[in-house]
Amino acid sequence: MANVKYKRVVLKLSGEALAGDLGTGINPPEIRKVAEEIKEVHNLGVQITIVVGGGNMWRGEAGAQMGMERSQADYIGMLATVMNALALQDNLESIGVPTRVQTSIEMRQIAEPYIRRKAIRHLEKGRIVIFAGGTGSPYFSTDTTAALRASEVNADVILMAKNGVDGIYSADPMKDASAVKYDKLTHLDIINKGLQVMDTTASSLSMDNDIPLVVFNMNERGNIKRVVKGETIGTTVKG
Ligand code: UDP
Repeated sequence: MANVKYKRVVLKLSGEALAGDLGTGINPPEIRKVAEEIKEVHNLGVQITIVVGGGNMWRGEAGAQMGMERSQADYIGMLATVMNALALQDNLESIGVPTRVQTSIEMRQIAEPYIRRKAIRHLEKGRIVIFAGGTGSPYFSTDTTAALRASEVNADVILMAKNGVDGIYSADPMKDASAVKYDKLTHLDIINKGLQVMDTTASSLSMDNDIPLVVFNMNERGNIKRVVKGETIGTTVKG
């Protein structure tokens, strides 16, 4: 394996990452850009799992705000993540990267059910495993899924690729000119300061299981590889 800092990673891609400028729907050329970057990291011999979000299509909370029953709305969100996972799988395979999709809710005709040991076996064989369907339970998020799967497969880190933001700031840098960027934080800092990085459940799970998190800008080409190789970009959350 090439000289890398992280040998087994969970890459968290929000639904937005697959949508491009429009911010909604599935945008294959946009997915191709991400897939090419993932391929470069895969070529280094890094074991990669990917947790995909679904916010480009549906968020359960928004459905609930419009009067839907929350759990029902959340299941729609989980199904959205499956669509994204299939689109990402299609794109990665078309450039020669072997993948498997595993869903937390069984859909045997289109993907494997999530089986921890099988996921690890795929990684050992050099396949990328895409985790779809979130945790399989309403009221959770795909950030929490990333923390859960990272704990389950003993990943070295969660790589959180953000759209256009190069790390964690004290406030939203798009709206507040006085916002300052943090280079290092702890998971507890995120919870205590109420920083908008991941939800509290995801932060506390990462803290309890000692999973580091690196938040970085995915719009800058090559950044996933930089982080994996140990370059200090973005914000590192540890402890
Ligand atoms: N979701 C859920 N349980 C999970 C993961 C996701 O109910 O374990 C639902 C929830 O409604 C959420 C939607 O799926 O709003 C899409 O996931 P998320 O918002 O995490 O996607 P992202 O913001 O990363 O695109």
